[in-house]
Amino acid sequence: MADLQTDIRYIKGIGETRAKALAKLNIATLKDLISYFPRGYEDRTLTRPIRELIVGEYACVKAMLASDPTAHRISGGRTLVKARAVDEGGSLELVFFNQEYRKSSLHKGESYIFYGKVEGNLLRRQMVNPLVEREGQQQITGRIMPLYPLTAGVSQLILSRAVRQGLDACRDLLTDVLPDRVRQEHGLCYVNYAYENVHFPASPEALDIARRRLVFEELFLLTCGLHLLRSRRQDVAGPACQSIDMAPFYDALPFALTNAQKRAIDDAIADMCSPRPMNRLCQGDVGSGKTMVAAACVWFAAQNRWQSALMAPTEILARQHYEGLAPLFQRFGLRCALLTGSTRAKERREILTALADGGIDLCIGTHALLTEDVQYAHLGLVITDEQHRFGVNQRSALGQKAEHPHMLVLSATPIPRTLALIIYGDLDVSIINELPPGRQKVDTFAVGEGYRARINAFIRKQVAAGHQVFIVCPLVGDGEEIPDERKAVTAYAGKLQQEVFPDLRISVLHGKMKAKDKEAVMAAFAAGESDILVSTTVIEVGVDVPNANTMIVENADLFGLSQLHQLRGRVGRGSAKSYCILLSDTQNDESKQRLKVMTQTNDGFKISEEDLRLRGPGDFFGQRQHGLPAMKIADLSCDMRLLDEAQSAAKALLAEDPALTAVAHRSLRQRIGELFELNAEALN
Ligand code: ADP
Ligand code: MG
Repeated sequence: MADLQTDIRYIKGIGETRAKALAKLNIATLKDLISYFPRGYEDRTLTRPIRELIVGEYACVKAMLASDPTAHRISGGRTLVKARAVDEGGSLELVFFNQEYRKSSLHKGESYIFYGKVEGNLLRRQMVNPLVEREGQQQITGRIMPLYPLTAGVSQLILSRAVRQGLDACRDLLTDVLPDRVRQEHGLCYVNYAYENVHFPASPEALDIARRRLVFEELFLLTCGLHLLRSRRQDVAGPACQSIDMAPFYDALPFALTNAQKRAIDDAIADMCSPRPMNRLCQGDVGSGKTMVAAACVWFAAQNRWQSALMAPTEILARQHYEGLAPLFQRFGLRCALLTGSTRAKERREILTALADGGIDLCIGTHALLTEDVQYAHLGLVITDEQHRFGVNQRSALGQKAEHPHMLVLSATPIPRTLALIIYGDLDVSIINELPPGRQKVDTFAVGEGYRARINAFIRKQVAAGHQVFIVCPLVGDGEEIPDERKAVTAYAGKLQQEVFPDLRISVLHGKMKAKDKEAVMAAFAAGESDILVSTTVIEVGVDVPNANTMIVENADLFGLSQLHQLRGRVGRGSAKSYCILLSDTQNDESKQRLKVMTQTNDGFKISEEDLRLRGPGDFFGQRQHGLPAMKIADLSCDMRLLDEAQSAAKALLAEDPALTAVAHRSLRQRIGELFELNAEALN
C-alpha cells in the first residue's frame, strides 16, 4: 500500500533516471507529485467532423487514413510525411515535418484521432504536425490537457501519467485541512475533487471549481501561518516603554502632522508600549513624510531612555536624514551621530565610544552600522529606511545589536495591504495614505523621440527660470555591454554639454562612482551649483532637492512602474510647478499602457496595483522575504479577490481559535507547520 510519503519510484515507469529528473522539480514523494500543479491548460476537447472544421481553430478530428503515408526529402535534409484522412463528409490533409516514423506507424484504413490547428482553406483543410492517437487509447487528445513546468527527461505525458497513478494510489488519503465550515461558507469543493480536477479537469467548470479551492487553501494556510508566526514572536519582551506626552515634540515641528502620520506614530507607540517588541512596516508614498514618523518614534524611545539606530540604504540618504534630524533633536538635548563608510577613523572611534557609553541617542548610518565593533549601551529601536534595498539578513543583523529591539521599517514602495502582508511576512503594517497639504501633482507626459527638440527647449526654459532638472538614463557608460551609448550617462552628459547646452552646468551621477564623489555631486546639485543632473537610478531613493522641478526619464519603458513613480517623487518637493517627462519610442503595447498609467495618476498605491495587474507579482516577490513558503498555485495577479476572501476567512477562524488548538483544526495546524518548516512546538 502506498501513502503520501511513498517514494516516487513506486510508480510504474519511474526508474532511477526519471526519479532524478523529477527531483529537479522537487518531486520526491507521491505527495509532491500530486501537489505539482499545472501552470496552464490546453483545451483539446473540441471535436468536429472534417466538414465543420474552422480554419485557424484547434480541434480534434476522428478520421480514417485514406492512403498510406508518403515520405519526401525536402531542403535542409528534412523529411516530410504526407497523408490524407477522411470521415463521412470531408477530407483532411496531414503533414508531418521531421517525423519519419509516421510513415510506418500510420496505416491506411485505420481510424485515428488527430488534434491540431486547422490550416488551409475551405476546400483543402490541413493539419501540420497534429497529435495522433488511437480511439480508446487517448491520453493527450480529447481532454483538457494540463501543462506542467518541465525539465529535461520529463515530458508532459510522463508527468501526466505519473500523476494519474499517484492520484489513484492516494486519492482517499488526502486530508482536508480546511475546516468544514470554512469550506461550506466559501462554497469550496472537497479536497479529492480538487486534486482530481486540477490535474484531469472533467470540464472547464470543474477546473475552475478545483482551482478556486486550491488557491483559496494556499492563501488561507499562508495567512493563518503568518498569524501564528506573529503571535510566536510576541512571546519575547521588547525594550520597556511608558507612554509619554508627545506634545513637546509635535510643537517643535514646523508643520502639523497629517492624520495618516499621526495614526502611524500611534500604531508604533502602542507597539512599543506593549510587552512585545515592535515589528512594524510603515508604508507611504514618496513625500508622505515617513521620516517624521521615524523621528517621532526616536524621540519617544529617547524619552524612555533608549538609543535608536536609523539605517539608510545610501550615504546620501543617511546624510540627508542626519542633516534634517540632528538640529531637531538638538533642541531637546538629544545627540545624533552619522556613521557611514566614509566617516574618518578618528571621528568613528569617538562615535563608537559615545554609542557604547550611551552618550548618543540616535545613530544614523548605512551598512556601516552593522559592523561588528559598533556596540550600543542600550539600543531600543532600530529603524530601516527603504527596506526593500536591504536583505532581511541585514535587518536582523542590526536587530542583533540588542536583545529584542523594537523594529520599524519604512518603505516607499506602495503595495496593496493584502500583498504587503504576504511579502513582508510577519510585520505589522501601517499605511500613510495621505500627503502633507499643499503638495501639487507632478504633471506627467509620455512622449517619443519626436519631441526631443521641444523637450530641450523646455529644459532650457526651466533652468532660465531658476529651476533644476534631473535626467535619468537606464545605463552606465563605461563598458562594452552598453547597447545604446548615447543613453549611457557619462557619454550622454558629455554630448548634452557639447551639443545642446554648452552654456549650462551639467553634472553626472551614477552608481559606480565612489561614495565620496557621489556625495559631492549631490551636495553641489542640492546647493544649486549645477543646472542639470544626469544620473542613473541612484537618485531614485529619497533624495530631496526642492528646487529641482523637472524629471526627464530616458528609455522610460525600461523601468518598472513603481520605479518610475519613485523617480517622479524626486520632483514636486518645492513650491514650483513640477513636471515629469517619460521618453520612449517603444512599440510594445503593454509598455505604452504602463507609461500611460503614469500620466493618469500620481497615487502610488494605484500605480502599484496597476503594476501588479500588468506585470504580475513576480517583481514584488523578487523582494520576497525569505522563509515564506512559495506559492504553488495561487497567482496573485489574478487571484487577488480570492486572497481577500481567504484572508478574511482566516481572520474569522483565528478570532475563535487564535492558536488553532481545537481538535477540528489539528490537521490545519500541522499543515501550516510543514509549510513554514516549523515543528509543532515552535508554533506554540
Ligand atoms: P518620505 O515619506 O518620502 O520619506 P519625507 O519624510 O522625506 O517623505 O518628507 C517629504 C517632505 O515633506 C520633507 O521635506 C518633510 O519635511 C515634509 N513634511 C513631512 N511631513 C509634513 C507635514 N505633515 N506637513 C508638511 N510637510 C511635511
Ligand atoms: Mg524617505
